Parts: sequence; structure tokens; C-alpha cells
Amino acid sequence: MESARLPVSDSRRFFAHPTVTPEQLLHESDRCVKCGLCLPHCPTYQIMQDEGDSPRGRIALIQALLSGKLPDTPRLHAHLNRCLGCLACEGACPSAVNYGRLIDGIRAVRSQRRHVARRWLYRKALGLFTKPRLLFSGARLLRLLPRRWSAAPPSGHSRLRRLIGLCPDFSRPIVWQAVYPPAGEAVGRVALFLGCISRFSDQAALLSARQLLNRLGWEVVVPAGQACCGALFQHAGAPAMAQKLKIQNQAAFGGSQPLEAILTIASGCGAHLKEYGALPAPILDISSFLNQYPWPEQVVLKPLPQPVAVHDACSLRAAGAVYQLLNQIPEIELIPLAGNALCCGAGGINLITEPQMADALLRPKLTSLRCCQATILLTSNTGCALHFAAGIRRAGLDIEVLHPIQLLERQLRP
Ligand code: SF4
Ligand code: SF4
Repeated sequence: MESARLPVSDSRRFFAHPTVTPEQLLHESDRCVKCGLCLPHCPTYQIMQDEGDSPRGRIALIQALLSGKLPDTPRLHAHLNRCLGCLACEGACPSAVNYGRLIDGIRAVRSQRRHVARRWLYRKALGLFTKPRLLFSGARLLRLLPRRWSAAPPSGHSRLRRLIGLCPDFSRPIVWQAVYPPAGEAVGRVALFLGCISRFSDQAALLSARQLLNRLGWEVVVPAGQACCGALFQHAGAPAMAQKLKIQNQAAFGGSQPLEAILTIASGCGAHLKEYGALPAPILDISSFLNQYPWPEQVVLKPLPQPVAVHDACSLRAAGAVYQLLNQIPEIELIPLAGNALCCGAGGINLITEPQMADALLRPKLTSLRCCQATILLTSNTGCALHFAAGIRRAGLDIEVLHPIQLLERQLRP
């Protein structure tokens, strides 16, 4: 039995997991008592109604694969790949199984078994996220292609078409200064984390965050050496690369003078940065941070007498902070989107790699959006925003997708 287990080679540095071994994965998976309490919370199980697409089923597959009872077949690959990493199962588990560690770990172990050419290609594709300029140029190129190419299933499910449909309308990338002082005396200093995709796709939200923070008296620093948070790599079976990015970010933010907090506008990045452990200041979602301090009296928000829908991203652990913050806007009617407990389907890169699943999970949310008659949808995560915006375009709805900070900044009186 022992000899059939998958080996972990230390020669494949891009993918090699720095901490988790197959033995540790098996040990963790043994905590699962197969009670099934997680099944109703799992979005992929709800859609597929197949045990292999449930947390319990995936844990059993991981155990069988690692102990050599099952070969690594395309069917097994499909079951593991469809997992969105939303971690709704962890919250429901009475045995406190660390499912996130299991799914990331098995992806890392399987990555090392890929053919060398496939590994090389995969590495190059993932490596794009560490090269902001290349990422931006690629996205601009995709936007030159007509949006209608992304429509019409079943051919509409090809990955290129999918990417065309997801690409937001880009303006020129912002060239960030190192420091943005407030108009008067600073109440303190915070750092802004830009991210890899969000520095382009969410640059309007980043700009709003910077402007709002300055209006509230905060000095904002934007360390130049910061990189992708590494979440995409960690969840895609390339933990060594995630580790490298972590070290780069620790160096970039460690060089800043004393900071009150490092702020993120993308909850997926924030959740991963919190796992770093060693950063010079706490990682906070910007909504949570803005709730912690009283606002100056002269900063007043304009009323907004209309319904505004709110999507709670799975990675935003403190979704209540968003509602608390937005309720400061007079007359606003916040509507939590029906089915908020279930992932929208974007999960990591699943919105590209698993389009059928991603769309099946988005469909009921678009129906809820139609019903609540909101003309604005708020979400705090980059992938969710891209996924919703593409679905809304395809459905021909007239709904604006914004980050909560954009709406807040818009409502500031001049
Ligand atoms: S992470 Fe989400 S999709 Fe994956 S098994 Fe858990 S609940 Fe299901
Ligand atoms: S709830 Fe926890 S212990 Fe029960 S089947 Fe799911 S993962 Fe296993």
C-alpha cells in the first residue's frame, strides 16, 4: 500500500509543495467521518447531485488516489477540478476537516505528475499573473475581439470565447505613486494592496479607495514591489510559486514606515494575504477598516433612494461590514442577493475552466437580480465582479456592477 502512494519530488520547484506531504494529506483526510453534513452546503453537489462532486466524495477520492486504490483518471480529475474552493463545506463540518488544505494539497501533488510539456505550459500560463504589463496587454488584445464571439453556447464555452466575454473595458493602467498624502494633517498611514488582475479590472475601485481614504484623512502608500497575492497559484497546484510571491510581498510591505493596516479591495486576495502570518500590519478588507474609525463631520454622503443588490463573496469572511458601511448612505435600500450563502461559480479560475458549472450557479442569481429590480449590484471580489458583469451582459440586463467603495465614494458630497 505504502509504495503505491504518489511521490513528492523536490526537483520540480515551481509546483513542489513546501509543507504538505501525501502522508499529511491522508492524515488530514482521516478526520472526515463521512457524516455528509457538508453536502447540502456544497454548490457543486447541488448542481451535479453526484457524490463525486461533494466534499465527502472528493475526500474519499483523495484518500483512494493517495493510497493507490484508484488511478488518476480523467473522471477523477473532473470531480476534483470542479471544486470551487468556496469552503462552504468547512463551515458545516463538525470534525473541523481542513478541506481547503486537502484540495490545494492534492492539486499540488497531482501537478507534479503531469507530463513535463504540460507542466511547462501550465507554468507559463499561470506565470502571466506575475507579469502585470503582459497581463494588461493580453487583456487589451482580447478586448479588441468582438464581444459577440463570446456568445452562443455550446461553442461559447471555449476558453478563448470565455475570456473575451469576461474581459472588462479597460482604460489606461494607473501609474501609482508611492505615497498619497491627505489634504490636511494625516490621522495615520495605510498601505493599499493592488493585486494582479484587480489592479486592471478593478482600478476604478482602487482609485475610489485611495480617494476616499485621503478624504477621511489617511495617508495612503502603494509599495512598488508588491506582487500577486499568490492565491491563484496556491489553489492551482503551484504552492512553491505562491511561496515566492509571499516573500516578495513581505519584502515590499515590510519596507513601509509604520502602518495602521494593509488594505485590500478584493476579498479573495485578502483571505490569502491573511494566511501569510508575517506582515508589518493587519490585513483588512477596506469595508471592515472604514467601519473601525469615526468619519470626520465634514464628510457627508448624498442620499440614494433606490434598491441596491449586494452579493456576499465566499472569501469575504466579514460580509456584515459591507452592509454596516453602506447603511451610512441615506435612504439606500440594500437587498442581499437571494442565495448569497452559495458560491456564484467564479471560484478561483473556475469561471474560465469550468464554464458550465460557473454559469449554472450564476443563473439563479441573475434571476434574483431581475426580480429585485436593482440597477446596481455590489460585490467585494474581483472574480465575482467579472463573472457577474459577463453574465449580466449576456442576459442583456441594465445593471451596473460596482465595488461597495465605488458607490460610497460616488455618494460623497463635492
Ligand atoms: S470547497 Fe465548495 S465546491 Fe469545493 S467541496 Fe467544499 S463546498 Fe463544495
Ligand atoms: S461534514 Fe466534515 S466529517 Fe462530515 S462528511 Fe463532510 S467533511 Fe466529512
